Amino acid sequence: MFYVGKMRIGGIVKREPSVPEGKATVEIQVKGCNFKCSYCKHYELAYNGFLDRTADISETIVISYLMRARQTHSTVIITGGEPTLYEDLPDFLSEIKALGLKVYVKTNGTNPLMLKKIIDKKLADHIFLAIKSDLTAADYSTVSGVLSDVYLESVLSSVSIVRDSGVSHSFCTRPLIGTITEEKLTELSSVLGGDEKVPNELVSELTKEYLQAN
Ligand code: SF4
Repeated sequence: MFYVGKMRIGGIVKREPSVPEGKATVEIQVKGCNFKCSYCKHYELAYNGFLDRTADISETIVISYLMRARQTHSTVIITGGEPTLYEDLPDFLSEIKALGLKVYVKTNGTNPLMLKKIIDKKLADHIFLAIKSDLTAADYSTVSGVLSDVYLESVLSSVSIVRDSGVSHSFCTRPLIGTITEEKLTELSSVLGGDEKVPNELVSELTKEYLQAN
């Protein structure tokens, strides 16, 4: 799935310094998402029914804001919504990188082709990939709010692409309490590539919490 036309941007948020250089970060929030996670913090940007209730911010405004902000900001985080759904994402990232800013991309991993394109063109300095649940289609569907057989395959492709890319990256996940088991978490840990992602202690802790609560 791709959104055609220009990227739709719903928010620009300045974050306090959280990167090593000590400069502030700008978060650019893209409209539209192919998931409907129940815990979505930006549902007003992500869910289709809300997209047209707020004005879009043009790319021209975003770029001119960044031109002024680059003295005090070092990094731009592109988040959502789901940025990889937009065909013109690479062009947009190129414009930001041309300003000398670092680009971090947050994604739900459902568009591995776009992620590969971004990585091949060296347009991301860091990728955050959100794994929505353990790796069963049923649990993925529950968390993401959409039927996930195909999406889960795409997410797994994205995990491989990002894991093997050599690009700085982080995986984050939120196991679905109530269905999680030690086996599922161990599988998730091994697919993500080891200790930095879902540490074994965390697997044990989560499993302990789950077993105690049940
Ligand atoms: S993938 Fe992210 S932006 Fe999309 S609905 Fe889920 S939490 Fe919201």
